[in-house]
Amino acid sequence: MSIKEQTYIMIKPDGVQRGLVGPIISRFEARGFKLVALKLVHATPEHLQKHYEDLKEKSFFPGLIKYMASGPVVAMVWEGLDAVKTGRVMLGATNPLASAPGTIRGDYALAVGRNICHGSDSVDSAKKEIALWFPEGIVQYNTLLAPMIFE
Ligand code: UDP
Ligand code: MG
Repeated sequence: MSIKEQTYIMIKPDGVQRGLVGPIISRFEARGFKLVALKLVHATPEHLQKHYEDLKEKSFFPGLIKYMASGPVVAMVWEGLDAVKTGRVMLGATNPLASAPGTIRGDYALAVGRNICHGSDSVDSAKKEIALWFPEGIVQYNTLLAPMIFE
């Protein structure tokens, strides 16, 4: 666990359409994470198939790719202590009906196939996803706030 840990967080097309970009970004900012990459992108099915490669045998895979390619997504990298695990906790369970209130999915979504946001499930997949979505690299910068957020 490091304060430099990075996770790939993506607001899915339903989150963008529903005007939830601001509220979702605000949650990560307010928690103390640092934004190190951000872009709006309308991804191709081929790109999304790579992102969800591990799920290609699942029955929901074609529908998932269609949904994810239906509009732009907001691709982001957030950095901070335990960013991967904490990001997943902030998102809530995959099925929003099982997500606790206070989580992003638990506050804004109802259906597993329209669950608003993505977050990396391990440090390893975060590295792969960041390389896939940000081949140009992330942005390095210092903030003066680090001593107020980390001991
Ligand atoms: N998904 C779905 N039906 C399912 C399981 C998953 O449509 O039964 C979708 C859902 O949008 C989910 C995505 O596929 O977020 C990726 O699934 P995963 O198991 O990786 O869940 P996540 O890591 O997003 O919580
Ligand atoms: Mg996943």
